[in-house]
Amino acid sequence: MSSLIQLCLLLVTGLFSSATLAIPQQSLVPGGIAIIALDSTAGEPAFSFRDKPVLISRHNDQTVAIVGLSLSLKPGEYFISGHYGDKKQLVKKFFTVNDKEYSTQRITIKDKRKVNPIQQDMERIIPEQKRKKIAGSFYSQETADLEFLNPVEGVISGSYGRRRVFNGQAKRPHSGMDIAAPKGLPIVSPAAGTVIESGDFFFSGNLLYIHHGQGLITLYAHLDEIKVQIGDRVQKGQQIGTVGATGRVTGPHLHWSVGLNGSWVDPALFIKQPSTELN
Ligand SMILES: [Zn+2]
Repeated sequence: MSSLIQLCLLLVTGLFSSATLAIPQQSLVPGGIAIIALDSTAGEPAFSFRDKPVLISRHNDQTVAIVGLSLSLKPGEYFISGHYGDKKQLVKKFFTVNDKEYSTQRITIKDKRKVNPIQQDMERIIPEQKRKKIAGSFYSQETADLEFLNPVEGVISGSYGRRRVFNGQAKRPHSGMDIAAPKGLPIVSPAAGTVIESGDFFFSGNLLYIHHGQGLITLYAHLDEIKVQIGDRVQKGQQIGTVGATGRVTGPHLHWSVGLNGSWVDPALFIKQPSTELN
């Protein structure tokens, strides 16, 4: 195919095929990522999706918007809107989100309070949820490195998006990837970033949030030890903690989430070679 035809196709669809970009992969489903070509010759782009600023990146001289698609999105047509420096010249870029059926996982938790918290637990959970919400929608302007390292070597024991039934009760779907690994194994930051939240949380155990730039956030839960503090600048590959079994767990593993524009998306779209998957 001539490059001119390719360019025309690109302009028609406004979307990249996942082959064009190695990382992250595009996946136009709830919980996936839309990668939308922008005008590379225009001014400085600023686009948002559902009132949240989206990450803008350059790949091979092409400017793209990398848009996180929330798991709760209904299939259908959506758009990002923005401008190239002139707020009066509003631009809309449309894309289609397709349906995806995620499987169901049944989990038995021995500590029943971790499934049905008592009033005393709720007094702890409610402020923790507020902190998580703030951390999950953090945004600042610095450029993000999208070429992630795997945070830990292990086996994927729970994939993103699964509907989950704890002790027979339907709970929220899985907002990240579970990687089973022995307790104490080092966890590294997949890219440079800043620690924006950390603490011992009721469900998540020892929990850590890293902002990598422009709303790209990674979250690490159930850690045994946290090796960094809020406000720390971390380098790509730097150890940030160790695998543990704190919070609501059945065994030692890392729960890893990746967020874009305030939505948790499938972390598998960010890693080159997902470890072998169980079940
Ligand atoms: Zn998990």
